[in-house]
Amino acid sequence: MENVMINLCEKYGTPLYVYDSEKITANYNNFVKAFSTKNFKVYYACKALTNTNILKLFCMLGAGLDCVSIEEIELGLRAGFKPQQILFTPNNVSEDEYKKAISIGVKINVDNINFLEFIGTNYKEIPICIRINPHLMAGGNRKISVGHIDSKFGISIHQFPLVKRMIKNFQLNVEGIHVHSGSDIIDPDIFIRAAELIFTIVEEIDTVKYIDFGSGFKVKYNPNDLYTDIESFGETFSNVFNTFCKKMNKEYTLQFEPGKYMVSEAGYFLTKVNNVKQTTSCVFAGVDSGFNHLIRPMFYDSYHEIINISNPLGNKKLYNVVGYICETDTFASDRMLNEVRKNDILMFRNAGAYCFSMSSNYNSRVKPSEVLLYKGKDYLIRKRETIDDIIRNEIDVNVFLSK
Ligand SMILES: *Cc1c(COP(=O)(O)O)cnc(C)c1O
Repeated sequence: MENVMINLCEKYGTPLYVYDSEKITANYNNFVKAFSTKNFKVYYACKALTNTNILKLFCMLGAGLDCVSIEEIELGLRAGFKPQQILFTPNNVSEDEYKKAISIGVKINVDNINFLEFIGTNYKEIPICIRINPHLMAGGNRKISVGHIDSKFGISIHQFPLVKRMIKNFQLNVEGIHVHSGSDIIDPDIFIRAAELIFTIVEEIDTVKYIDFGSGFKVKYNPNDLYTDIESFGETFSNVFNTFCKKMNKEYTLQFEPGKYMVSEAGYFLTKVNNVKQTTSCVFAGVDSGFNHLIRPMFYDSYHEIINISNPLGNKKLYNVVGYICETDTFASDRMLNEVRKNDILMFRNAGAYCFSMSSNYNSRVKPSEVLLYKGKDYLIRKRETIDDIIRNEIDVNVFLSK
């Protein structure tokens, strides 16, 4: 693996994102296999990683697509998804954006009362899904918890009496109930608690066909991390779900929308060391990238395992791995790495989810290339940007004429 990565750096340059399609396929298959309900569907939450080739892979695997913007819907359609395989789960978007999504024919997930009213007034015939906020605190940290009491997401479970009246009076066709509590959920029991709450709602709406429990499955970033054991979770949760189906005498479809679980561990980020700098307090390993390309450590205090693949037998030493952005951009502090030398390649693990998709051009830096590994071959799936990409949409109005 390490040698493959070094060769890819020579071939495509650094910084570089590499995705392993076999790992993604295995993740998808393991996920599906873990559940034993009669009807089951996975919608890949594509905001994690949106390269069209990745979307095509999920389409081939039989997944649906969870989209949070009209642009993501467009990417999904271009990748070959049919509108009915796409679930639109936005937050605070305009009526126009909802209208566009409705005209395309994707499944609509409604996350506020105002829009429920809008649907009731203008589109009461279309089937909808309703996003409920169960007010459970879950997720790795507050920035990625979206089901708690202060969260902007979903319709409060306490407003359900109102929702019910609206459903009745507008005669809304509610085919789905949705809940998504956050990312990096350590205790999977939270899904069961959410399920118990959601079932009480489903019991009161005859038209419901599917129940979508969102995502939040935790993967290992650090070898010692806790992670969601999907097999045991799948077994427990399927039992809970099947019991409910039996009670209701109805075969609901169980749905999830994993992003991170599907792609995080399938991604690698490769950077080259520009400089090793001893200061009074530590040694900095400065690489040819920064939070413009991988923001998670600065944004969420996330841990990414880093390996010096150029010097696997070197003595272990302590480093702060930092970027080249003119702002503090620390990837890792006090990290033991095999001795780092100028031009070594440092490989970041878990770089599949929320890495490239959150990258920017800050400091006027171009975005990295992306490479896909498939059946023993490597494919360039995104060219490195150039300065032309950075100024593509600028308009030089030429009013500041020099004397
Ligand atoms: C982001 C998001 C997901 C995916 O979450 P992960 O933690 O990446 O699995 C699923 N559903 C919705 C509605 C989301 O916003």
